[in-house]
Amino acid sequence: MVRVYLHEVTKIFGKNVVALDKVELEVRSGEFMVVMGPSGHGKTTLLRVVAGLEEPTDGEVWIGDTLVASPRKGIFIPPKDRNVGMVFQNWALYPHMKVFDNIAFPLRIKKLPKSEIEKKVREIAEVLGIAETLDRYPRQLSGGQQQRVAIARALVKEPQVLLMDEPFSNLDARIRVTARAFVKDIQKKLGITTILVTHDPADALTLADRIAVLRRGVIQQIGLPSEIYDKPVNVFVANFIGDINLFDGSIVGKGNEVYFDGGDVKVQLPQNINVQGNGSVILGIRPEDVVLSKEVISNNNDLIYVGKGTVEISEFAGGKFNVMVKLQSTEVKVVSSTSFGLGEPVHVYFNSRKIKIFDKQTEKLLY
Ligand code: ATP
Repeated sequence: MVRVYLHEVTKIFGKNVVALDKVELEVRSGEFMVVMGPSGHGKTTLLRVVAGLEEPTDGEVWIGDTLVASPRKGIFIPPKDRNVGMVFQNWALYPHMKVFDNIAFPLRIKKLPKSEIEKKVREIAEVLGIAETLDRYPRQLSGGQQQRVAIARALVKEPQVLLMDEPFSNLDARIRVTARAFVKDIQKKLGITTILVTHDPADALTLADRIAVLRRGVIQQIGLPSEIYDKPVNVFVANFIGDINLFDGSIVGKGNEVYFDGGDVKVQLPQNINVQGNGSVILGIRPEDVVLSKEVISNNNDLIYVGKGTVEISEFAGGKFNVMVKLQSTEVKVVSSTSFGLGEPVHVYFNSRKIKIFDKQTEKLLY
């Protein structure tokens, strides 16, 4: 097992397309790192730089103790010598080859003896649960099976690092859940250092040991899934990793009486909140941290009263309800365990421990 380390890696395409901007990322040995970000923000480029399919413009790429790319030192180790397995977004299986030959391909390039190829292909197919498909063509497999073949092909040469580019995007929602569980399981079983890129927060939250969030080629935050979700460093990360209500307003008052004033949403902030008065801010609260009640709740110190609202939408979403409440002219998204009738008046509370305050100008987390 090896670590992968990108030190101030920059990749510029043409004259001015900055795909990666001084990326500093350490993936620990055996770690499952998920790199997430919107389309076109540099995720694929990051993987290709690690694989050696792209040369960085500046910076250093390390795989274990080997410096595999450094323009300043004139070092560039080609992909075939990097011991890295890659699963592409479209899986890139050879349609005219049977599954066996697809998986055997990297070993044939390495010119391994026939008997060894046979053994390794059968072994990895067994591990991935596709042993019975070896005689078929890719088109005769389900999406989930094709994905496993792509993973088997990436793993068969026993790489030190596994790179996966949006591996679930071709799978429908139901298979995706199983496929995710499968990938997580296999990664843990093999203990292989893995970087997976995705734009889907659900992939990141369920799979990652740690998540790195990319925006326009710049790493915004690296942390545990719970850190990224609960303590996002800025509005971009907060918005990207999950649903969140955001209200513009300002901080008023001082001492024990500090309020967020956002017009319809005016709440007293917890005493330990340490933000300056009179600044323009954004208050963020995730839908599951908003509590609705038909009655006034008086015995819960964690809840901050926001006001009376009216239920506008209440949708069943399998074990929970997605509710939209209107506070005068402001809409608040809520995830609730109980259902509410349309037009029903409700009291709206925020979980004080989950309130996030961002600076309006820099959009950075203040509290
Ligand atoms: P997606 O999720 O859509 O694949 P991404 O986050 O993986 O997007 P990249 O493919 O890494 O993004 O692209 C980052 C930026 O670099 C984009 O602006 C893209 O247009 C540009 N880019 C990528 N490859 C090249 C190339 N070979 N030549 C020129 N520009 C490129």
